[in-house]
Amino acid sequence: MAGRGHEDAWPRPKTCRIISVANQKGGVGKTTTTVNIAAALAMHGQRVLVVDLDPQGNASTALGMERDAQTRSIYHCLVEDEEIRKLAQPVPDIPNLWCAPATIDLAGAEIELVSLVAREARLKRAFAAYDTSDLDYILIDCPPSLGLLTVNAMVACDEVMIPIQCEYYALEGLGQLLRNVELVKSHLNTGLSISTILLTMYDGRTRLSQQVAEEVRSHFGDLVLKTLVPRSVRVSEAPSYAQSVMTYDPTSTGAVAYLEAAREIAHRAEGISAG
Ligand code: ADP
Ligand code: MG
Repeated sequence: MAGRGHEDAWPRPKTCRIISVANQKGGVGKTTTTVNIAAALAMHGQRVLVVDLDPQGNASTALGMERDAQTRSIYHCLVEDEEIRKLAQPVPDIPNLWCAPATIDLAGAEIELVSLVAREARLKRAFAAYDTSDLDYILIDCPPSLGLLTVNAMVACDEVMIPIQCEYYALEGLGQLLRNVELVKSHLNTGLSISTILLTMYDGRTRLSQQVAEEVRSHFGDLVLKTLVPRSVRVSEAPSYAQSVMTYDPTSTGAVAYLEAAREIAHRAEGISAG
């Protein structure tokens, strides 16, 4: 197995890894995690597509996507069968990184999807029509709900990554998320698994953060990345400059942590395909 030392050559997965970043709670770090892990992977030679599945479009904003009334977005892919390749845009200043943006139309998709055939599998269908042989990762930024958009993500992916905020009530609602993953796995996508848990907004000075981290580790064991993402002002500033923290301030504690987390994810590829 690849060890440390080859800083710039992370192993590429044999086939494209499709990872949903999900947690029905808002504000736990889904978008921040999606954007920064994607940027870190791309900066280490991985070819990465971010799919923004949240009508808020925060990932699209953070990745500098230009959007206007004419922009074709993941909405058109889900509802009108538009090809992902046609709407994915390169991310400025980060080679190997693309984003399929969200526009506000997506807010209606949750309802519009209900009447469509195979409504849970629209995104999966779109991925099937897309030649993913030139991609190493697809990261899907999910909205803060367990509705049809998140179900579409879970049906279309192989792995779920759950960011957990090291705060009060961090574990509340997690049972419901896990049951949903199990339901999708048993009925719609047998290949689905929770592969990764990332502790975010960690504040080592507080007993609370430490307790949450310990509790999550004792529940989820090796699924939890060793790297903790600390609370860092630079992380929260970056989106207002239409950037990831990886480019905005690569030496900040937040950027360093996301880089380490991405490295762990890249080096776990072997274990995932075996399990
Ligand atoms: P979600 O997508 O789950 O709703 P976000 O990624 O948008 O969560 O994060 C919620 C808020 O917390 C945002 O304002 C974001 O900038 C901020 N944030 C996320 N991670 C960190 C961090 N490590 N340090 C400081 N602020 C953070
Ligand atoms: Mg978000």
